[in-house]
Amino acid sequence: MPNLPDDSFFEQIADEVELHDSTPAPARLKATVYSALMLLEAAAGPLMSVNEVAARGNKLCVFEQLVQIAPVGETAKSLNYCRVCHARVLAEHFENPPIYWPGCPYVQLKNS
Ligand SMILES: [Zn+2]
Repeated sequence: MPNLPDDSFFEQIADEVELHDSTPAPARLKATVYSALMLLEAAAGPLMSVNEVAARGNKLCVFEQLVQIAPVGETAKSLNYCRVCHARVLAEHFENPPIYWPGCPYVQLKNS
């Protein structure tokens, strides 16, 4: 992963920006950016396993829940399953995609 400036750098930029429009970003754009960030994260190294994500109190996507209970190793539990589920495709192409299962990040990116 590339070296990013520390939080104070981003806080300084945020303090200097005046937002004139409170309209949320398009859901399709948020989904596309999320997908790109996840690809970068996966390219940098293994993702956090679904067991660790759940242990931290975060919800899992229905597909991640299946992987969590499956008898597979940590490598398989550290893959980005939302990358291959149809929620990603729908979220990247529709402003209000017909996806409703809890825990999927693409459902959470919808503007409701
Ligand atoms: Zn998902």
